Amino acid sequence: MKIRNYRWALLAGLLVSSLLYAAEWSYTGATGPMHWAQLEPSFKHCAAGAEQSPIDIPALIATKNVPPLKLRYNFTHQVLYERYVHGAIEILLAKPREQNTLTWQRKTYQLVQFHFHSPSENHLAGKVFPMEGHFVHQAADGSLAVVGVFFNIGRANPSIAQILAARPLTSKNVNILAEQNFMVQALLPAERVFYAFKGSLTTPPCSEGVQWFLMQHPVELSAQQWAQLKQALPISNARPIQNRHGRAILLNTL
Ligand SMILES: [Zn+2]
Repeated sequence: MKIRNYRWALLAGLLVSSLLYAAEWSYTGATGPMHWAQLEPSFKHCAAGAEQSPIDIPALIATKNVPPLKLRYNFTHQVLYERYVHGAIEILLAKPREQNTLTWQRKTYQLVQFHFHSPSENHLAGKVFPMEGHFVHQAADGSLAVVGVFFNIGRANPSIAQILAARPLTSKNVNILAEQNFMVQALLPAERVFYAFKGSLTTPPCSEGVQWFLMQHPVELSAQQWAQLKQALPISNARPIQNRHGRAILLNTL
């Protein structure tokens, strides 16, 4: 495949940024979640933080007047890349990122990347889902917002089919996933009932101040798609549930 120079420059940038991030961590053993905070000083929030993710959403949440979430995603003419980060697929968006925005309470964030965890990291009243997608957004001031979507096993998902069509991916690859149109809609539920709460990155350095939006309604992927996607994920890449420490969780039912 012939690729223009700026794309090589972008790919090189991605590879360098992943190499600079040197501290090794994993989901098992001596470098697993219970030890993340000791692996590097900058990981201290993984143990000392008071607003860590993921969490178990309680069964009963008071519905308040929560402002709606405006998701404006347009994946036409979008170049997507996928790469391995700590054993999991991460799908990155080349610019223009301003095509894909999230607005909540008059603050706008741009979609930077999305990725999957299996099983789900967040739980819903104790329920664990086979998979959870995370859409990571960043605002102009650098703050982060993550939209979480649960996946159940059911019908084949056309967006997941596009991702799987870019196989095979090895740990050294950065694949061009879609150069034109990507169907992001099937990765999000039609009904946008969501929980809003403060949390953190679920991977080191576990930085806090992340605004979370967790969709209540799951979307589906087929058992075969799930099995294929899991080949590109560690056996489990779900961080254990963290203490809520009395955090407020808002429910928007609009
Ligand atoms: Zn994640």
